[in-house]
Amino acid sequence: MLPNIRIVLVQTYHPGNIGAAARAMKTMGLSDLVLVNPRRFPDPEASQLAAGAEDLIDQARVVDSLTEAVSDCVQVVGASARLRSLPLPHFDEPAEMARDVVAQAADDPVALVFGRERFGLTNDEIRCCSHQVSIPANPDYGILNLAQAVQVLAHEVFTAWRRQPQSDFRLARPAKERRPSREQLGHFHDHLTRVMQRSGFITQPHARTEAQLQALFARAEPSRKELSLLRGLLASLEQHLPDERLPDREPGDD
Ligand code: SAH
Repeated sequence: MLPNIRIVLVQTYHPGNIGAAARAMKTMGLSDLVLVNPRRFPDPEASQLAAGAEDLIDQARVVDSLTEAVSDCVQVVGASARLRSLPLPHFDEPAEMARDVVAQAADDPVALVFGRERFGLTNDEIRCCSHQVSIPANPDYGILNLAQAVQVLAHEVFTAWRRQPQSDFRLARPAKERRPSREQLGHFHDHLTRVMQRSGFITQPHARTEAQLQALFARAEPSRKELSLLRGLLASLEQHLPDERLPDREPGDD
């Protein structure tokens, strides 16, 4: 029903949670399940808790990293009960997130990402996201079970899809106006880092500066056209930089 909306579960510990998440997805019209390094999968417990959603379990893809799971997505929303220090755009209201996700998913894949039962998502994983969302809950005990968090957000997405006006049946937006995929954005940030290093703005890899710039561009939500303008600008600046290559620059990394 909503083929462009992917659910990604990162390193799930209990296979039963994978099954219950699949069931939650199917009840809300979602079917694309990607598992990043699950502890045990396939597993009978996952199939049992999936009940009528075993087809989702059978089709689930298992990958090695979150980057791989979302590289083709134009929007990646990390679900987190706690706010982190990373200044990524944050949806305080899941309904607002759902409207945006449904709109983006009309043309391109998007993902909702859920962390481990014990400690959620790492900072590096949050960095793979374009946005964060929290489910408002009891301030004294606001952490939901993983599959229940999937259920709540999947329900919001389904509701947003159901409520969108019929006039939304429209022609696809031209590619240039659409948001870049995480992979395209990743190439831009690699390019930016390279220019910062070659120009001497930073003298060695500087994760904090890079994270701040990533957050800035995440908030700006550039289109593919704007991103290619920035790539052109970087390429032009690069031509005026001294030729010598820094040791950590990969050959052929252009
Ligand atoms: N102990 C972990 C929470 C794990 S719950 C921690 O402190 O971060 C498993 C996953 O469910 C979380 O990583 C998150 O993706 C989702 N989740 C649970 N409660 C949530 C909430 N209130 N808002 C958004 N996501 C939530």
